Amino acid sequence: MPAPITPSGAITDVTDNHDDLVFADEAAEASASASDAAWRILVVDDDADVHSTTTFALGNVEMQGRPLAFLHAYSAEEAFALLGRERDIAVVLLDVVMERADAGLHLVRRIREELGLHEVRIILRTGQPGYAPEMEAIRGYDINDYRTKSELTRTKLYTAVAAAVRSYQQIRALDENRLGLERIVAAGAELMALHGVRDVALGILAQVAGLLGQAPEGVLCVRETSLAAPHHEVLRAVAAAGACRHLDGRELGPQRGAHLAQAAERCLRARRTLGEDDLLAMYFAGKAGRDFVACIPLDRPIGDTTQRLLQVFAGMVAVSLDNVELVTHLNKAAFHDPLTGLPNRTRLVELIDATLCTPVRANAILALVDLDHFAETNDALGHHFGDLLLVAVARRLKSRLDPQLDLARIGGDIFCVLGDAGAIQPGPLQALFHEPFQIDGQDVQVSATLGLVRLSEHDGCGADALKDADIALKRAKSQQRAGHFYFSRSMGVEIRERVRMMHALRGGFRRGELFLAYQPQVDLASNRAFGAEALLRWRTEDGRLVPPDRFIPIAEYSGLIVDIGEWVLRQACAELMRLRQAGHREFTMSVNVSQVQFRHPHFLDMLRRALDDTRAPPEFVELEITESMAMEEPSLLVEKLAQVKRTGVSIAIDDFGTGFSSLSHLQRLQVDRLKIDRAFVTEITGSARGSSIAEMVVQLGRNLGLSVIAEGVEDERQAQILRALGCPLAQGYLFSRPLAPEALLEWLGKQALTRAA
Ligand code: C2E
Ligand code: CA
Ligand code: CA
Repeated sequence: MPAPITPSGAITDVTDNHDDLVFADEAAEASASASDAAWRILVVDDDADVHSTTTFALGNVEMQGRPLAFLHAYSAEEAFALLGRERDIAVVLLDVVMERADAGLHLVRRIREELGLHEVRIILRTGQPGYAPEMEAIRGYDINDYRTKSELTRTKLYTAVAAAVRSYQQIRALDENRLGLERIVAAGAELMALHGVRDVALGILAQVAGLLGQAPEGVLCVRETSLAAPHHEVLRAVAAAGACRHLDGRELGPQRGAHLAQAAERCLRARRTLGEDDLLAMYFAGKAGRDFVACIPLDRPIGDTTQRLLQVFAGMVAVSLDNVELVTHLNKAAFHDPLTGLPNRTRLVELIDATLCTPVRANAILALVDLDHFAETNDALGHHFGDLLLVAVARRLKSRLDPQLDLARIGGDIFCVLGDAGAIQPGPLQALFHEPFQIDGQDVQVSATLGLVRLSEHDGCGADALKDADIALKRAKSQQRAGHFYFSRSMGVEIRERVRMMHALRGGFRRGELFLAYQPQVDLASNRAFGAEALLRWRTEDGRLVPPDRFIPIAEYSGLIVDIGEWVLRQACAELMRLRQAGHREFTMSVNVSQVQFRHPHFLDMLRRALDDTRAPPEFVELEITESMAMEEPSLLVEKLAQVKRTGVSIAIDDFGTGFSSLSHLQRLQVDRLKIDRAFVTEITGSARGSSIAEMVVQLGRNLGLSVIAEGVEDERQAQILRALGCPLAQGYLFSRPLAPEALLEWLGKQALTRAA
């Protein structure tokens, strides 16, 4: 709302107006966040190490010329309280799994919904990979980025945070612009209703005060010939407010209002608005050379955004309240990207909405064009260079694409093309980037990735269509070399299906639908069982068995695996104790541990507690971790494995041979056993050279002093070859399928009998 102006032209104190107070707060925030203040980054993680590595990685960097300042929270609860208290936090680096498996996602919802903080950018960090939850999460909760911790190397972390900071800055600027523009629209209408120079002048002072979030203050002056000396120009205050009120109608000069007069003269000479810390001189280019200047003492320095707003305002007043021009100007500011002059996101959404309402829709496509590695280019070569590149891309798209198409720039490095499917095809669109761009006399080669949606297949509003295009774009980027991807309804269905399964699994876990099967492991020389691997099973309410290969990845990416994995470990330890009581005192129990679970900060505590509570002897418990996991983050893993081993349990590397562990790495990891992947066991009877990998692993084990077990042994021939290769241990259907606990006991009993016979 504009500042109220009474018919007499007297101005009521705007600070009494509630809306203005709100704006004043925001203006204060804007100026606090201006220029030299640090970007505030909140790190939320229950692992103290993550805090120190993050601040170490980002401690001394600057983004957009400003340093970073860190705030820390060690739980979602603490973070929530802090966000409720602190203002102006730009980015939250948020751990997904904390108090609970979904503590992070839950916090995101509370940040957006309960705290109503829509500007803060959020980067989720998690132990689990997979793009499906990424899309779901980003779509549902406005998350900036979703990364696995291992993915976030120092440079990637920098790039991710820098992108988030940039987008925070843009959102802030947009929000403030929007607020300011609403105000200017209202101000324009208000001013137009006024007649006479004095009223308009007073109105301007009131409106500027509103934009600044302070009480009306200052003078509005114009240069005119002196009444006393016709050839002498003087500066006259045509309106005055606040503490300057006594200057109303007076000539300004060395005797009266000297400070203001000097500033006004400087401003008129410069023909532009000049801001100082405590004084603002706004320039209004008047018609017929009659320029105005408003000199306004400031309560506090003003930020960049406010300055830009004031310029828009000044420009508008200067077009002398011409209605038509006013409206076009506003539209331009509200609906166009100032850098490239292209329509912005707001305008694009309108255009899509309009397309969706017409028959054109049947054959229309929306394509997002994302420049590859733009953030890196921008960081490496500077923002000015980045801006020039964006302008060049805009120019190329505009000149080469069918003029019937709508073109927009909707974010940092994302352009958008909307129109007839015939004219928007991935190949030709990407071909526009084959030729280098000329920037500052240099050839610059960039490529682009496309996300496309056929509007005929889309049922929603324009904003939803953009989201779908974004999902397609993310998919295109995650599948390297894809280059482009069309959104399909099944993508939505697939995501929903996974989410449905996640809910079903959570419920199933609570209802006790999960159970373990035990597959015996045998000594190949004697065919005697020495242990078993615990394998997770899920039988749903309707009696269906869901294969672990389907539900375990879902448990992993939802974080549910942390709780489930703990349950598995306890269950397996308890079973080990029952077997020991039944007389199998040398029996070992192998338990699969997923990467997500292993990385969890409380994993060690969880392991110790499970061993303590069940009294399972650690020397008979083995944890299986996959080879792919063993290859990641060597130094972190070495340390963690050493701690795990100190509890007394042993470690096996599962699916060995599928990755490419280096030997030195293996030695540093201090593992106890290698499990030859089933694929290589299957191979040994197939081809002549097939045995080579299995053979290599066996020799590797011998050289490194590690135990070796072959998994997935299905027939006697395979067993024979393995024996001949010197592989000591095996597991597979040849000996037994995974068994229920009673069946395992029975199987072990029978084995003892046959040996005795
Ligand atoms: P894995 O750890 O490689 O487990 C071996 C898989 O091979 C098991 O499949 C087992 O039933 C199967 N198998 C054993 N012998 C044979 C054979 O002779 N021929 C064939 N064709 N298959 C054989 P399952 O039980 O379906 O488990 C699949 C995967 O699920 C496991 O692969 C493991 O990665 C994961 N998994 C199972 N239980 C758990 C668990 O408790 N926690 C975690 N994190 N993952 C688990
Ligand atoms: Ca396994
Ligand atoms: Ca395996």
